[in-house]
Amino acid sequence: MNESLFQDDATSADLLDRYARVVVERGIDTARSEEGFTYRLSRAVAVVSVGERVLVPFGRGNKPAAGIVVELGGPELLGDLPKAKAKPISRATGVRLPEPLIELARWMADYYVCPLGMVLSAMLPAAVKRSIGRKRVIELDFAERPDPTDMRLPPATRQAWALLQAQRAVLPAPPAEVARRLGLSSAATLNRLVRLGLLRRVERTVYVSPPMPWEGLEVEGATAGEVEPTAAQREIIDALADGLGAFSTHLLYGVTGSGKTEVYLRVMERVLDTDGTALMLVPEIALTPQTAGRVFRRFGEDRVAVLHSGLTASQRTRQWAHAASGECRVVVGARSAIFAPLPRLSLIVVDEEHAGDYKQDQLPRYNARDVAIKRAQIERCPVLLGSATPSLESWSNARAGRYRLWKLKDRLGGGRLPRVEIVDVLEESRARRESQPGSRPSTTRIRALGPRLERALGETLDAGGQAILLLNRRGFSNILACAGPRCDWVLGCDDCDTTMVLHRHRGLPAGQVLRCHHCLAQRLVPKTCPVCGSGLAAIGMGTQRLEVELSRTFEQLREKDALMRLDSDTMGSAKDYFIALSRFARGDVRVLMGTQVVSRGLDFPNVRLVGVVSADTALWMPDFRASERTFQLVSQVAGRAGRGTMPGRVIVQTLNPGQPAIRHAATHDYESFADEELALRQRAGLPPATRMARLVVRDRERDAALSRAAVLAERLRAVAGSQVRVIGPMPAPIERIAGMHRIAIEMIAPTAADLLEPLRALRAAGLVKSDAQTAVDVDPIWLM
Ligand code: ADP
Ligand code: ZN
Ligand code: ZN
Repeated sequence: MNESLFQDDATSADLLDRYARVVVERGIDTARSEEGFTYRLSRAVAVVSVGERVLVPFGRGNKPAAGIVVELGGPELLGDLPKAKAKPISRATGVRLPEPLIELARWMADYYVCPLGMVLSAMLPAAVKRSIGRKRVIELDFAERPDPTDMRLPPATRQAWALLQAQRAVLPAPPAEVARRLGLSSAATLNRLVRLGLLRRVERTVYVSPPMPWEGLEVEGATAGEVEPTAAQREIIDALADGLGAFSTHLLYGVTGSGKTEVYLRVMERVLDTDGTALMLVPEIALTPQTAGRVFRRFGEDRVAVLHSGLTASQRTRQWAHAASGECRVVVGARSAIFAPLPRLSLIVVDEEHAGDYKQDQLPRYNARDVAIKRAQIERCPVLLGSATPSLESWSNARAGRYRLWKLKDRLGGGRLPRVEIVDVLEESRARRESQPGSRPSTTRIRALGPRLERALGETLDAGGQAILLLNRRGFSNILACAGPRCDWVLGCDDCDTTMVLHRHRGLPAGQVLRCHHCLAQRLVPKTCPVCGSGLAAIGMGTQRLEVELSRTFEQLREKDALMRLDSDTMGSAKDYFIALSRFARGDVRVLMGTQVVSRGLDFPNVRLVGVVSADTALWMPDFRASERTFQLVSQVAGRAGRGTMPGRVIVQTLNPGQPAIRHAATHDYESFADEELALRQRAGLPPATRMARLVVRDRERDAALSRAAVLAERLRAVAGSQVRVIGPMPAPIERIAGMHRIAIEMIAPTAADLLEPLRALRAAGLVKSDAQTAVDVDPIWLM
């Protein structure tokens, strides 16, 4: 026994023999790293709790590394590590993850085949880790027991003290500010009061950030004011409120405008009547202004935090700290807000649960909707998924009784579901040609709007209405090809197996640039075909080209701001979206056009026309969910019309008028679509009838990727049970991205456990790793 231990008093002896397991924020993936490494608590860093982010000496050279404490305990944490070898924690950072998130991280690391340190790291926003916007300030406050009566104070000090007594509310505040407010020329007198023990210095953490995007702006949809829940809404609200305190999963299926958001808000109200907090996920930042606006109005800005990637770093830090503070009761946010550090979490809402945005396409490759269900299970609370077009995964779970299914059938607030007209684009242009004999089909002048949509838009504008146009393709044109008669040259990206997209760009002399949407490479536009020297033609229609066509065709849209394009090229931050939407809400913007962000959640009563310029953009992708996505896109955008008292009109242009996804979307018939599509998936053995994991092996050399993938597939086949189908290796649909060849292996099995078992086995043997060379994607949703 060590003598010196006995000389310390009992408490410090305890401290010295206390240990923490720390998982560093690195991609280390071994059995041991999952458990973390053991560090010693010291007198300097004596009190840490599980979830705390600390700095520890790590690796050779003991470089400081950040990590999360996952366990605390005595010498039993040492294992076979000699006591003397346990290094001390260097310091605590003041950031802490609530304990349930540690359990969630463990589950994610296992389920999504990702090193635990990377999962934990992903749970904290980068801004929080770097303490951007977090400042420690020194403030003055009254000391515990000031007793100046028998002290001899110099006159100036006495006067300052008297002033402070008269204005006690000035404290606590930083010295300079106190001096200013008392009219003192400097803080010297105040410092003397500190030395005399009348005042004390306190350290406080403050968060400094620019105002949030919505501060000083107003987005009013049709949703202001209190409403009385309908009987159907009340049933759901009551069932959820009664179920608070226990885990349960609910799917709320209701057309757009059927009052789902109202249900979320009411259940949250019930949560706030208790001591609990609530978390609401929305798929992307474009949705947060309106949704957050409604939540603010209901609960007050002080009790709400907003978390998404459109905020500045310091805003994120402040919102995150607010969420953790206990004062905040509701968090609204996008994907990673599922890790919001809310204490006493009592309800999770996942709005638009079908949205692909919930899936993260880098490590850890999680789906926030599924993580929400797991977090609810850990926190023992209900989770409510809502959508007008539920994912087939959730729908089949609800059908099978694993989730409780709720339906809201009718539109509220007076609106009716709009009539949807399907326009066969080929038919229309044939008819046009026949009616204008002699005119020859033009190849260079591509038009986005057919006659029917163009006429409808003209009428809407003349009548003072607003319109939304959807075209789910960014840029000007997605194909630049040779216009020569006998040449089929198409401009592709040097590093990817895709075409480059032509973008108009104000900053460039030529005004145009080619961009690869996969590797983000840019290049200038060639003048002629490198093969035959002919001129080039831009084929294909993107949002920029649509914008040009619209302002050419409609005089009303040439006025400033009358036409607004909403896509990720024009909208950089949450503030941009906010401004765009408030302009549209005010009526300054007559036509809002853009990619699928315009199809989501927007609720504006004056929208009388919705046009889908091409319903086919997703249809022919080599992905088994193409049809589901097309259905979602068309019915979501169709739901934007007719939310006020005016009947809405929806026109969908397509080359495939008979396609079931488009036909069912036009009749707002989700259930028929879902049942037919589920039957197809069942027959094909595809999710959700089965579970899937996908591995993509990447390498600069095609052969290297192929042979590594072959080894991997062989090992998987060797360890997987007979119920697991291992498909491949095979080249991914886009075989090369950013110079890397991509070879895919798919695993399909009846249950997730069947998939995870072989993955776990190979992972433990060090054969499967999620890293730069191999991507493991469990429950993949993009198969490109
Ligand atoms: P969703 O989220 O399904 O699109 P919302 O909750 O936004 O639906 O409701 C659509 C519209 O109907 C909103 O304007 C909302 O204020 C209104 N609304 C919701 N519930 C009621 C109700 N019980 N009575 C009257 N109007 C309602
Ligand atoms: Zn590229
Ligand atoms: Zn050519």
